Amino acid sequence: MSKVLEQQCRKFIGLVLVLPGLWASVGAAALGELVISGEPTQGGLVHGHVSPGAQVWYEGRKLRVAKRGEFVIGFGRNEPSTTKLTIRYPDGQREQRQLNVAQREYNIQRIDGLPPRKVEPTAKDLVRIRQETALIKAARRQDSGQTDFLRGFTWPVVGKISGVYGSQRVLNGKPRRPHYGVDVAARAGTLVQAPAAGVVSLVHRDMYFTGGTIIIDHGHGLSSVFSHLSEVHVLERQRVARGETIAKVGATGRATGPHLHWGINWFERRLDPQLIAGPMPTAATQNSR
Ligand SMILES: [Zn+2]
Repeated sequence: MSKVLEQQCRKFIGLVLVLPGLWASVGAAALGELVISGEPTQGGLVHGHVSPGAQVWYEGRKLRVAKRGEFVIGFGRNEPSTTKLTIRYPDGQREQRQLNVAQREYNIQRIDGLPPRKVEPTAKDLVRIRQETALIKAARRQDSGQTDFLRGFTWPVVGKISGVYGSQRVLNGKPRRPHYGVDVAARAGTLVQAPAAGVVSLVHRDMYFTGGTIIIDHGHGLSSVFSHLSEVHVLERQRVARGETIAKVGATGRATGPHLHWGINWFERRLDPQLIAGPMPTAATQNSR
């Protein structure tokens, strides 16, 4: 197909998606040459498409737009209900869109009358924690051109969900850090598989909080983090395929028992893997994987 014809086709596809019924059913903002698929929701992810060559900003952040015009936006745990998307088309035209982000309620647990914490990190621990946090932040800042996220995400481990995204405990009136990910209960030694292809951007065998830790970069600022691993089977800068074994479940770092903690980040925003990977497959499906 010629380039011009291909562009015409794309425009046509864009117009088809504008049909009011479909627009309502996907809950997407789709007009002219911009198509957003997915429901903007706190912790969620939407895929966007613009004419190749267009530039896109979300809340002041310039987004990476792939050659064919694909981009991605992730919404944080406390993303405001209205956010702004700006597009500059190749012909110089500018367009501004408001995205309405569905707000969620999180599981907040208040526990009062607790004795003061007996174990606080020592000064030495704090130095270590700061260094490890810097490594994780550097991995999450990466904005690479690979588009592995376009093919979606599968569950890295199949099991019972023992901790959900966004939950938070308030101990003696002090809010603790919210839970930014999903916990899957699994026996120690269970194989962990890459939920999407990507490049390993961080491997650490023993972090203070997260123990054995891996981060995979899926492109355009989207990354997965896996924590409390007992064994790591990949190296930094290694490319992994979806479904490839990357590690074993453990209880390393600050974990009360063996489980996989899986987080998905879009730069500094933490997303909800349950919204992105969909329902947990059953054990029967797991066997046929
Ligand atoms: Zn967790």
